[in-house]
Amino acid sequence: MTDLDAVYLDHNATTPLDPRVLQAMMPYLAGGAGNASSLHRLGQRARQAVDVARQQVAALIGASPDEVFFVSGGTEADNWALRAGVAAAAGARDLGGPAQLVTTTVEHSAVLQTAERLRAQGVTVTLVEVDAAGRVDPEAFAAALTPKTALVSVMLANNDVGTIQPVAAIAALARQAGVWIHSDAVQAVGKIAVDVRTLEVDLLALSAHKLGGPQGAGALFVRRGLRLPPLLEGGGQERGRRGGTENVAAIVGFGRAAELARSEWAEGARRTAELRERLELGLLARIPRLTINGREAPRLPNTLSVSCAGVDGLDLVLNLDLAGVAASTGAACSSGRVAPSHVLRAMGRDAATAREALRLSLGASNSEGEIDRTIEVMAEAVARLRAPATSA
Ligand code: PLP
Repeated sequence: MTDLDAVYLDHNATTPLDPRVLQAMMPYLAGGAGNASSLHRLGQRARQAVDVARQQVAALIGASPDEVFFVSGGTEADNWALRAGVAAAAGARDLGGPAQLVTTTVEHSAVLQTAERLRAQGVTVTLVEVDAAGRVDPEAFAAALTPKTALVSVMLANNDVGTIQPVAAIAALARQAGVWIHSDAVQAVGKIAVDVRTLEVDLLALSAHKLGGPQGAGALFVRRGLRLPPLLEGGGQERGRRGGTENVAAIVGFGRAAELARSEWAEGARRTAELRERLELGLLARIPRLTINGREAPRLPNTLSVSCAGVDGLDLVLNLDLAGVAASTGAACSSGRVAPSHVLRAMGRDAATAREALRLSLGASNSEGEIDRTIEVMAEAVARLRAPATSA
């Protein structure tokens, strides 16, 4: 439950701040954070707190603390990985022409828009397509790699549909080709097991506010030994890799959220999977002509993307909101726009069907009662929206 007292089914947009995380942050919010670069005791307290958070985040993803760099969130981590990753590889190897970035059609806009910017700067961008369930085929990646490939970027789990990508298999191919691989794991961390050594990725993006932490903190994992130049130059913070005074309170919150996720994610995943199953079966039973998007592929346990034939996803979101259920048409950054989900389009749905997509993303604190209420409210809303308009 949130302050708005709605049934909150939009955890992929952002998660409520865990009260235990807030408690950990309080001394750095209310008591004066201190600047982690200052030499006095307040500064040193901040430095130690940031270092503890670094250990906590590293432990969650199986990394060493020296491989974790704090940034402002998933968007910055993705920007850094792509921009610096392409530049570093192009600088280190003579590619014999414009560098190539290989990524997928279903990435978050933090990756896709950065790729477009790089394309405008002369980088060759290849977008690997997905199947009807939203999954990429590692062989398609293998076919896209060329001697000019500088970087491969593939998300671990999709924010709209929840599809989990075969990142380890793609990383193996990239390694064979001597190419760095970045993975946007923003939606995966805290919902499924994420281990950088198992995945064997070079770069991995994560964000605090998707796992019960505060907005405005994230991290990029940079494999030890990788010479990744900074995105932001400044006062030498983050061992010279990311300039800017550390957001101490948010980083402390991120660390605590990571610590909690490490011990609680498996139980949370089990619980959200059960609730998602209840929701999915309930909606299928109550709403005719309802399609579950991406059901054929491995999915995040908490994510359910549905399309109700003839019902615009945006209309449905607004109707659900009035009835006290917070849902989404897809990525939060695009929900103000009336563009159909690029993920559904990439999965082969036509524009009209893609517009019908509705995303329900659960959290461990949702209850069975909330799920049952959502089924009722949604069945009524869909019936109302499908009813032929009567003139007054
Ligand atoms: N990548 C994915 C897959 C996301 O879902 C999001 C946020 O929705 C981001 C990146 C951006 O993260 P942030 O909101 O921390 O900038």
